[in-house]
Amino acid sequence: MQGRHYINGEWSTDGDGVIDVMNPATGERVGTVPNGGEEEATKAIEAAAEAFPDWSKTTAYHRAELMMKWHDLLLKNKQEVAEIMTKEMGKPLAEAIGEIEYSAAFISWFAEEGKRVYGRSIPASKEDKRIQINKQPVGVVVSITPWNFPAAMMARKMAPALAAGCTFVAKPAKLTPLTAVRIYELAEEAGFPKGVINLVTGSASKIGKVFTSHPSVRKLTFTGSTEIGKELMKQSSETMLNLSLELGGHAPIIVLDDANIEEAVKGVMASKFRNAGQTCVCGNRIYVQEGIVEEFSQKLQEATSQLKVGNGLDEGVQIGPLVDKDGYDKVAKHVQDAVDKGAKVLVGGDGSAENDSYFYNPTVLLNANSDMLVMNEETFGPVAPIMSFQTDEEAVNLANDTRFGLAAYFFTESMSRGTYLAENLDYGIVGWNDGLPSAAQAPFGGMKESGIGREGGKEGLEAFLETKYISIQL
Ligand code: ADP
Repeated sequence: MQGRHYINGEWSTDGDGVIDVMNPATGERVGTVPNGGEEEATKAIEAAAEAFPDWSKTTAYHRAELMMKWHDLLLKNKQEVAEIMTKEMGKPLAEAIGEIEYSAAFISWFAEEGKRVYGRSIPASKEDKRIQINKQPVGVVVSITPWNFPAAMMARKMAPALAAGCTFVAKPAKLTPLTAVRIYELAEEAGFPKGVINLVTGSASKIGKVFTSHPSVRKLTFTGSTEIGKELMKQSSETMLNLSLELGGHAPIIVLDDANIEEAVKGVMASKFRNAGQTCVCGNRIYVQEGIVEEFSQKLQEATSQLKVGNGLDEGVQIGPLVDKDGYDKVAKHVQDAVDKGAKVLVGGDGSAENDSYFYNPTVLLNANSDMLVMNEETFGPVAPIMSFQTDEEAVNLANDTRFGLAAYFFTESMSRGTYLAENLDYGIVGWNDGLPSAAQAPFGGMKESGIGREGGKEGLEAFLETKYISIQL
């Protein structure tokens, strides 16, 4: 597959050569995309700026119609788009299909919600004054997205931006740009006017520099690491960009001693092993109350040992490869460090790194402690370390003892203990007996160094709107 930029309604392969897109399950080349840089990014922003005045004046009803055509095309072609995703990213095909459906859900939800961008009127303190509040689209939006959800991370930015009346320039991750290219082809087929949606592939740092310095850009929306998020935030200070940042996580899972253990194991499996542990909301560290550690860890070990590892295109595979060598090395390092510091491997603890494909076996570690890397940094792999705790208060303190604050999970059947945890965990997303809380209609995002702003829900639309106060003297 030969990927292309989509700029001002035209496809092109301009740039400094091409970037190979590799299949992490086989080490084979899936295709190429052009290695675009400053020039392509500038052209795309200028096209978006030119298209903005007309697009922002169309009705939300018209925009919703186009979005729903795009939504329907995406679902009609979900198998094909999902196969591209599995080939370039590695996730099991069933998960890739799920991701396309999840992406489509953002498009349909925001197509509808765009019709509910309400301003308001405020009673004035003088008879001859009127106070009116209008909402309007922020303007040209640029987005930078990561490889772990090649469709959904882009869709959940693009859908609210378009619904709000913004025009859009996307830069997909270098490792997984082909899914985005195919999604743009479907968007073109849906009939968005030229310049409204643009796609540039290539050098992240060069494109990122233009995104954060071009005077026509009004908003940057980014999902990726905290480190790059901070760098982009610094760069964005030059043009005072409106920012939404979805950054790293280090999610705790707390299992209280009154939890339904079967359900807790199911929830942990779903949270921990989705996408081979490569999501920013994957449970990273598991705190289990003393008294149920043995039963819980045995059941988690049994469930984990049944997971099928392999090429995501093969029938029944639940754990695909890690995306690249760096990802694999980090996981191997975390496990080795934990073992050196006293953890016991209940299952897994090894992998295979041959022919440029990197598979790590789903792993459960017992006797984890707070000195281990795995309890302090995002592992981004299929490793479940279990540490025991005594009191609910201790669990909350352990969970909050991090600079991250994206997602946290806990399992309990008690209303009062659950309420205590829900209210005291410093996290933007809390799953209570729920390992998979993400939904298009709910605000997703982090506290602390996990980011700024929310995606999804009405907050996700608000992120693409400016507030204008009009004071009228009659
Ligand atoms: P991840 O580990 O999820 O890839 P990164 O933060 O490294 O997280 O990358 C997320 C996205 O940011 C990717 O699309 C990547 O290409 C892009 N990116 C990386 N470095 C920069 C940079 N200096 N400027 C702009 N974008 C960048």
